[in-house]
Amino acid sequence: MKEVVVLGAGYAGLKTVVLLQKKLKNDIHITLVNRNSYHYEATDLHETAAGTQSASRISYPISDVIDPQITTFIQDEVVKIDSEKKTVKLAGHEELLHYDYCVLGLGFVSETFGISGAKENAFPMTNVKEALAIYDHIIAKMKDYRTSHNPDDLHIIICGGGFTGIELAGALVDARPSYAKIAGVSPDKIKITIIEASTRLMPMFSEDLADYGVNLVKSLGVQLLDGSRISKIEPGKVSYHHADEEEQSMTAGTIIWTTGVSGNPLMEECGFNAKRGRVLVTDHLTDPQHDDIYIIGDVAAVMPPDGKRPYPTTAQIALAMADYTAEDIVSRIKTGKHEEKPFTYKSLGTVASVGNTHGFGEAMGHELRGYLASVMKKIIADRSLMETGGIKELLSKGRFDLYH
Ligand code: FAD
Repeated sequence: MKEVVVLGAGYAGLKTVVLLQKKLKNDIHITLVNRNSYHYEATDLHETAAGTQSASRISYPISDVIDPQITTFIQDEVVKIDSEKKTVKLAGHEELLHYDYCVLGLGFVSETFGISGAKENAFPMTNVKEALAIYDHIIAKMKDYRTSHNPDDLHIIICGGGFTGIELAGALVDARPSYAKIAGVSPDKIKITIIEASTRLMPMFSEDLADYGVNLVKSLGVQLLDGSRISKIEPGKVSYHHADEEEQSMTAGTIIWTTGVSGNPLMEECGFNAKRGRVLVTDHLTDPQHDDIYIIGDVAAVMPPDGKRPYPTTAQIALAMADYTAEDIVSRIKTGKHEEKPFTYKSLGTVASVGNTHGFGEAMGHELRGYLASVMKKIIADRSLMETGGIKELLSKGRFDLYH
């Protein structure tokens, strides 16, 4: 019997486990390790940060999808992968895990690009705990305003106007009336600002579509400072340079960091040949130095056949990698050989939500705008929920209430 150790129960890791459980009932034992007892939909974190979706709505217990006959789930922190000895060390267990195949799906962390004070003075938004910390802080600031009357308490700055920053701004707009009620002010007094270095936002979309998205966010009352390079962050203060102008600064009660992410730093720490936590994997999604280690999701870099830059890391490609990895492990266990075909990927499209009922993006070659885009976004979210959690999680956590 082969031992498969899967590290990380995000989109990539959990879907691999779900598929292997179905495909190889008698031939393997799986050990799944994850820091938390739950899986969360990372693509919805901005909604939990704003308070428009509860943490329980965007997550579910891992035990719901585990078949205990095949899989042992261990809630613990992975601290070391020894690729020569084929072992994994966990923080809370003396005994090492041994594997025949290891699947690394340890996901992403916030990237601060060395900007002074970003780590200390801005909130990252890369997991449920961080999203809840943002929400709690916003609410505390709204309460503070009642006695302080300091307008900064009502001001939220988003550092980074990429896909995540724009989606977060949209969710904050939806939540604005509830913040205003707590602070005892009218909603227009709640100020939301995005500070972004580039002047061409969201380059994954056509200029026309990106402009639509930017104008949509602005029309909802969000202030956008584009072409503004953040130079440092101090408590309650963001400094930036607009073009060649002198440094300027802006103060706010809440500062959120969404400028970018990198792969898990454990990849470098464990000696993998990684850049910003990502390993350029083989055609079979394995580590070039260790054919028994699959590296998938946000810790992997996959080069398109004709491209110069790896595919962007997304939940969509993480799920596609899980499909391939499960097939390839089945093939190796049954035939001793890799799948004949290498991993290939075709994006189904990308849609950004702007609050609950607006959005923009492209899917299956069509550009979508407004309400239609927001419906498509929910269909995509439901599909990915179905792929990891199955029908039970789809029925209890899916976005059916919103198709109207
Ligand atoms: P993750 O989802 O990060 O899962 C990794 C898992 O590993 C986590 O459960 C984590 O707790 C666990 N883990 C990490 N380190 C350890 C450790 N040392 N020990 C034990 N466990 C550990 N993508 C899209 O395709 N479409 C979108 O619309 C989209 N929107 C997004 C919106 C936001 C706000 C964000 C933040 C991301 C969005 N993404 C989107 C990107 C997408 O969420 C990621 O690409 C995806 O989550 C990567 O999946 P993964 O399985 O590699 O990692």
